[in-house]
Amino acid sequence: MNTQISHILVVEDEQHIRHFIRTALENESYQVTEAGTYHSALQAIQNQRLDMIILDLGLPDGDGLELIKHLRTWSKLPVLVLSARVSDQDKIKALDAGADDYLSKPFSTGELLARVRALLRRSQFNPSVESPLIRFGEVEVDLLQRKVNRKGQAVRLTPIEFHLLSLLLLNAGRVMTHRHLLREVWGSTYVESNHYLRVYVGHLRQKLEDDPSQPRHFLTETGIDYRFQL
Ligand code: CA
Repeated sequence: MNTQISHILVVEDEQHIRHFIRTALENESYQVTEAGTYHSALQAIQNQRLDMIILDLGLPDGDGLELIKHLRTWSKLPVLVLSARVSDQDKIKALDAGADDYLSKPFSTGELLARVRALLRRSQFNPSVESPLIRFGEVEVDLLQRKVNRKGQAVRLTPIEFHLLSLLLLNAGRVMTHRHLLREVWGSTYVESNHYLRVYVGHLRQKLEDDPSQPRHFLTETGIDYRFQL
């Protein structure tokens, strides 16, 4: 049993709703941090050790959906989405982007707390990455800021290269099948397009390995699959 107090970030621009949620959570002895904007939410995610995020989709300076997609490139932190958007399509979009659960406004305190408990329970068996910074060789990758440095110099990666890199890093030590990588990065219609993967793993080796012809981190397995080695 986890006896630590869970720390929950509440991202909501409407102050009275934020306050309502905070009170409900604090009454149950959760630790709460509030953010009223997309920007301050990002800062909190970056700087604090969190156990869960409760996220309103409509924020004044950004879309909550984008925040989820961004977070999911490096973290499995549970996200409960709150929204006044009630159509099925919006729920599907949020869940597809990586939200774990969805609560439509208005909601009751009881329902909110039950969903929070359920998500925290589940995440205890599925801990998220603790820090978005991953280092290997002379490379440092900030999965949150999507920045890569090698020998102190910024390395430019395309969005596809970065997506592939983050998948490999988050599964370090594990063999990732070519089909899985192709489906995750390019989509399900590309699962046989091995050449894409070969080309892009080649790019990562060129940009991040000391000797791209003798890779130490981006390894080929059984000729077509890949494994990242720290
Ligand atoms: Ca809002």
